[in-house]
Amino acid sequence: LFAGPVDFVKGVVAMSGLPPADRVEICFAGRSNVGKSSLINALTGRKSLARASNTPGRTQELNFFALGEDRYMVDLPGYGYANAPLAVVEKWQKLLKSYLSGRQTLRRAFVLIDSRHGVKSVDDEIMNLLDKSAVTFQVVMTKADKVSKAELAANFEQVKGALKKHPAAYPEVVLTSSEKGDGIETLRAIIAGLI
Ligand code: GDP
Repeated sequence: LFAGPVDFVKGVVAMSGLPPADRVEICFAGRSNVGKSSLINALTGRKSLARASNTPGRTQELNFFALGEDRYMVDLPGYGYANAPLAVVEKWQKLLKSYLSGRQTLRRAFVLIDSRHGVKSVDDEIMNLLDKSAVTFQVVMTKADKVSKAELAANFEQVKGALKKHPAAYPEVVLTSSEKGDGIETLRAIIAGLI
């Protein structure tokens, strides 16, 4: 799945712009700076694939990538910007809600959590939205190389605990480091296994 081409398809700003729901879809969500672009680049083996999503103007779009011929991978805008104008946040939340609740082919959302920080309230809000939308989500902890083993273990437990109150949470949490490559193969296998 990840050996083939991974092409940027389009940035979507409104429900009317979604590509046809004709294949299995997964999406990635996370606070800005969580390491989402780095993870997508590590997964796909492309150095700058997700950079487009982080350039100004692209940040409020649902960025669609084609994985091979039968999957879409969607990069959702990073949330939790302190300085985003309210109107922008509201427009984005509206689109996100419509997308999550209305996309039949969306199989799983991957919610990225920084290994140093654990689940914060903004993450919890996204998880509530995923519960409400009945979208199964799986937590991927990022930047595992940045913390000590003890800290990683403690934050892993914090994440596991936080997931207990979310009915849409998939129980297995994946530990990754885009820098070192840890967990990348595991995550690829999980994505490839979704049908
Ligand atoms: P995004 O805003 O969520 O797309 O985050 P980026 O992928 O741009 O990463 C934010 C910062 O964290 C950058 O400086 C990355 O180099 C760094 N980063 C991302 N992933 C890792 C990782 O696995 N290990 C380490 N040490 N740094 C990382």
